[in-house]
Amino acid sequence: MQYMCSKCGETFKITFFQYILGPRILGGPKLLKCPNCGKWSFCPIVAI
Ligand SMILES: [Zn+2]
Repeated sequence: MQYMCSKCGETFKITFFQYILGPRILGGPKLLKCPNCGKWSFCPIVAI
């Protein structure tokens, strides 16, 4: 699963563990901490 940071535009992959644990809007963006800018934001999925 690959997500895009809504703050800086960085795309990053998350682990299956993060996928299960992190809060998300059903079928939509997910609350993740960006590894690039370190900010929490709702990140839209860009690739499976
Ligand atoms: Zn970022």
